[in-house]
Amino acid sequence: MTTRTAVVVAGAGPAGLTLANLLRRAGIGCVLIEEQSRAFVEQRPRAGFIEEWAVRGLQQRGLGEKLIASAPIHEKFEFRFAGRRHAFRYADLTGHRHYVYPQQFLVTDLIAQYVDAGGDAVFEVSDVQLHDLTSDSPAVTFRTADGEHRIDCDFVAGCDGARGVSQGYLPADTTVRARHDYGIGWLALLAEAPPSADGVLFGIHPRGFAAHMARTPTVTRFYLQTAPGETEADWPDERVWRELHARLTVPDGAIVQGELIEKRILDMHNYVIEPMTYGRLHLAGDSAHLVAPIAAKGLNLALHDAFILADAIEAYFAGDPAPLAGYSDACLPLVWQYQEFSLWLSEVFHHSAAETSNPFLARIAEARMRRLLDSPAAAAAFAELYIGRRSAADL
Ligand SMILES: Cc1cc2nc3c(=O)[nH]c(=O)nc-3n(C[C@H](O)[C@H](O)[C@H](O)COP(=O)(O)OP(=O)(O)OC[C@H]3O[C@@H](n4cnc5c(N)ncnc54)[C@H](O)[C@@H]3O)c2cc1C
Repeated sequence: MTTRTAVVVAGAGPAGLTLANLLRRAGIGCVLIEEQSRAFVEQRPRAGFIEEWAVRGLQQRGLGEKLIASAPIHEKFEFRFAGRRHAFRYADLTGHRHYVYPQQFLVTDLIAQYVDAGGDAVFEVSDVQLHDLTSDSPAVTFRTADGEHRIDCDFVAGCDGARGVSQGYLPADTTVRARHDYGIGWLALLAEAPPSADGVLFGIHPRGFAAHMARTPTVTRFYLQTAPGETEADWPDERVWRELHARLTVPDGAIVQGELIEKRILDMHNYVIEPMTYGRLHLAGDSAHLVAPIAAKGLNLALHDAFILADAIEAYFAGDPAPLAGYSDACLPLVWQYQEFSLWLSEVFHHSAAETSNPFLARIAEARMRRLLDSPAAAAAFAELYIGRRSAADL
């Protein structure tokens, strides 16, 4: 196994894989290490909605060809509110769309592009530890079935997600860990059912929020707002479908049922770790900032970080250290824009269910919804935030 490289990338999610591919293409030495098996990460379902600027960013860098060729494009969604359908055509307002491509497909493509082209990747590592991060030569140690390993390097990229070890290496006294808990859960569901509509459905309902999102022609994702402390055991299939029908069905808008193949409570919280850098360690993606999937932003931010970090490391080895020194500052403005939008949207989505506990918040949520539906200016501002960045031109 390699014992010295330029960059050790921890984590084969969208952030780590994009970064590893870009470093390899730039001729920069790189070893990718991943806790899980290749088969596991290639099948792990999560995101599906990728913003157009991020897709163009992948395309400009020679990645994402399969995505572009096969991902359906979404240009509108539908609010189901006050018993009616309200189509929201955000592409008409912004000129930008979403590509719908299950995250595991993107991960599979990026692994193939990296490994098949000779990229160095080690799966099923454990006991990952980072060393000497403030020196000129940090190191990463880990264990595999073959024994213990050490890789000395110039930089460590901590792309190991919200449960990885990298974020734990940022010292408490110089790091701000900003966190927000929503105080609710989402039941994330995957059903073997064709999409019930040709776009996303957001059900704003006094019983709680619900959503429908196409994934593939035969699999659909649904979400249900749940009360704090509820677990999967509180949600037998019969209750799931009863609530999905109650919260999403409107005249001419039924929900297609299917076998539930995933049922997982998500604890809804966000965090941002600032700065995203400590010595020779740079965090990217969920390891640096988690955004609950309310506005479908996390994967997009992971790609944003990876693009910026790859360019900065390339500049460093070309003799310009400034972009790497400014990496965290370059990433965080978009991170905070997306966090703010997720929080705002959460209040619209979830506060209708506060009808009995807090009628004031429920009325505020309703007022926001009506403004969104009645005011072209409010709709345009919302659409811009919903589709995210306007352009990949400067990425
Ligand atoms: C249900 C759900 C739906 C979502 N929908 C959307 C959406 O539609 N759009 C969107 O933009 N975002 C969405 N997201 C968010 C998106 O999935 C994440 O933001 C994205 O996975 C972040 O990518 P990442 O590479 O930073 O981290 P991850 O994908 O978490 O990858 C981190 C990798 O590191 C590995 N790892 C962990 N610890 C170690 C270690 N010690 N050493 C080595 N490797 C390690 C993990 O196994 C993992 O493979 C959704 C999330 C969920 C849960």
